Amino acid sequence: MESDSQINVSQLLKSSVGTVKQILLSESLFNLADDELVFPSSGTLQLTRTDRGIWVSGIISVFAKNECSRCLVHYNASSKLEIDDEFLPSIDVKTGAKIRYSTDELIPGTNSIDAQHILDLSETIRQYYLANMSIAPLCRINCKGLCTECGVDLNESNCSCEQYQDQRWAKLRELLNK
Ligand SMILES: [Zn+2]
Ligand SMILES: [Zn+2]
Repeated sequence: MESDSQINVSQLLKSSVGTVKQILLSESLFNLADDELVFPSSGTLQLTRTDRGIWVSGIISVFAKNECSRCLVHYNASSKLEIDDEFLPSIDVKTGAKIRYSTDELIPGTNSIDAQHILDLSETIRQYYLANMSIAPLCRINCKGLCTECGVDLNESNCSCEQYQDQRWAKLRELLNK
């Protein structure tokens, strides 16, 4: 088994339809240009020769630094991605001729295998990761966030302004203000 995000699939492209190759992604490090997104990931992907190209499927785990939408703390989050995508060759592996696809064959999300028969998973994994990412990530389910008055992290400590934001103290405040 290979363990890289860039996989040479020339042998698999020469194989008959239905041939399966397993790719182990354990400890592969995807450094995906966007410097915030670094993915040490693990899992096994199946590469299956189809009549048109190579079908990549399987579940992998990726880890990335997220910023909590409430308290702004950076934390490592793990997410499971279910990869299910077909990659099409850009040249014929046997003849070396460029393959032309009609536009309706190029379904959205289709990935291409380059002229050196390299199937690059990093962009696909990045896309799946972004699609899977929560719009408002939380460091923990019940994150208390930051105090809107003094900015203190309410997970770490209580501040003195907290009581005035809490509606339970509204009655007391009324009494104090009298
Ligand atoms: Zn938080
Ligand atoms: Zn405060």
